[in-house]
Amino acid sequence: MDCVFCKIICKEIPSDIIFEDDKVMAFMDIRPVSRGHALVVPKEHKADIVETDDDVISDTVLEAKKIAAAIQHALHADGFTISTNRGEAAGQTVFHLHFHIIPRYRRDGLTAWPHQDTTPETRSQIAAEIKKQLL
Ligand code: 5GP
Ligand code: ZN
Repeated sequence: MDCVFCKIICKEIPSDIIFEDDKVMAFMDIRPVSRGHALVVPKEHKADIVETDDDVISDTVLEAKKIAAAIQHALHADGFTISTNRGEAAGQTVFHLHFHIIPRYRRDGLTAWPHQDTTPETRSQIAAEIKKQLL
């Protein structure tokens, strides 16, 4: 399969692995957003979070939580952001589920997503659309 993360998992291509067990691997991002940016992936290939079984997501996220705390401690970061992208529109470029762990440093210049103003009517219309899908 032509998946760069599968190739990293089977060690066909090198990476800086920081954690590995039978289900999950974590390695350093090749183009880090901040010092210590790491990726946590399930070993099983699935394109994204929606395509992945709940037990696999659970194993991967629980490991990401532990690894993020270790990264913060090791690198004296001030916090971290954990995120995953689903779909090209969200910025996904590698279609093998991965959680980014981005260590955050005070004054790191990583600005948050721009917030928008909205009206109470718009918010409740949108909430109603979403709630219909959750029934
Ligand atoms: P996405 O944009 O899909 O959410 O994130 C993909 C991430 O994978 C990017 O942050 C990118 O730098 C990283 N990446 C892409 N190719 C490689 C690679 O060959 N090795 C490593 N270690 N990271 C990679
Ligand atoms: Zn893969």
